[in-house]
Amino acid sequence: MQALKGTHDILPSEVYKWDYMESVIRDVCARYGYKEIRTPIIEATELFQRGIGDSTDVVSKEMYTFLDRGNRSVTLRPENTASAVRAFLEHKLYADQQVHKMFYIGSMFRYDRPQAGRYREFHQFGLEVLGASSPLADAEVIAMACEIFHKLGLKDLDLHINSIGDKNCRPAYRQKLIDFFMPKVDQLCDDCKERLLKNPLRILDCKEEGCKAASVGAPVITDYLCEDCNTKFEAVKKYLTALGIDYTVDPKLVRGLDYYTNTAFEIQYPPLGAQSAVCGGGRYDGLVEEMGGPSTPGIGFAIGLERLLLALEMQNLIPVPQSAHKVYIASLGQDAVIEGIKIQHLLRSEGVIAEMDLQDKSLKGQMKQAGKSKADFAIIIGSNELEEKAVTVKNMNNGEQKQVPFDNVAEYIPSALKNN
Ligand code: AMP
Repeated sequence: MQALKGTHDILPSEVYKWDYMESVIRDVCARYGYKEIRTPIIEATELFQRGIGDSTDVVSKEMYTFLDRGNRSVTLRPENTASAVRAFLEHKLYADQQVHKMFYIGSMFRYDRPQAGRYREFHQFGLEVLGASSPLADAEVIAMACEIFHKLGLKDLDLHINSIGDKNCRPAYRQKLIDFFMPKVDQLCDDCKERLLKNPLRILDCKEEGCKAASVGAPVITDYLCEDCNTKFEAVKKYLTALGIDYTVDPKLVRGLDYYTNTAFEIQYPPLGAQSAVCGGGRYDGLVEEMGGPSTPGIGFAIGLERLLLALEMQNLIPVPQSAHKVYIASLGQDAVIEGIKIQHLLRSEGVIAEMDLQDKSLKGQMKQAGKSKADFAIIIGSNELEEKAVTVKNMNNGEQKQVPFDNVAEYIPSALKNN
């Protein structure tokens, strides 16, 4: 049996890397005032059809959708924004008229062609800010993504930003694009031929060579922004500059759907190659309303944790965890084993990491294991120790041995570990 294609195990020897990324992320979230939200991994299919949009690749081609035993169409979440907005509405979090800042960490599922940096089950850290229309919020979320990378020590990232306007100015731009691409429709890939009338902005970020060539000289959205959108975009740029954050304006960075508005951004780590985007996000002022809620501005982003991990490994930035202090209890014979498990239990409840042999090894084998497991002390219990009601404590670093009465072990070991 093997894990499904595009999914992967994170083995016990690797988990510290994930813990490390998450701890840095959680620390930054706390300082920026973001609280965690945990939503179900499985949702009604309709949530994603409405929340992401039927015409997107994610919804039209990549979802893990199936009928459950009650004949309902359900889907493994391909992203977390739609679920967060659903929870925001379901629990009427909007009622207090406050800004809601939430983050999530978890598995997402997309049935895509697996390759380096692209998986079918992958993990995202992401956040959503609901209820804030100020461009300050746009700058804050971009700054926060940058801060996470900075705290992790990652260098050589490129931040790309764009404004995709809103429902006032985008329709005219959309029409300009359709007029531009219509005469070149034969040069477009099959997907983009379909996008031409439904979702023409997406042609601009198509990776197919023909579409890239056809896009040269296409009208750029920043020339068509209305005054309000332009003012907001200028404000975002001004705030980023004030924060010392370098960016490139990339008019080809788009999102096709009506409920995406104003800011779109992406952070790339070019050495990752074809899948170089480590973070993508933007403003979605129309989404909450689209999903049946009161008009509420929103902005968010998601970081792909597998790609982040690859980037951190490429720059050798993951600290090897310090091995924790621990003891190993070696015992000979059933009576000694009984004393051993009692002492082990006591030590563990005192907060000490304590382990014993679970494989019926000889005393010699157990001592070998104590060394292998890098225990600081071995606690030895044999017939002498049983008679004297005192264990032998061996300091594994210098070989010194000491007798400690059974009753004193739980007191002695924690302080000995501290002073070792
Ligand atoms: P998106 O939700 O498509 O905006 O993606 C946000 C981020 O998630 C991307 O920048 C990637 O880092 C990551 N990501 C998206 N799809 C995948 C995937 N199939 N495998 C691994 N990471 C992904």
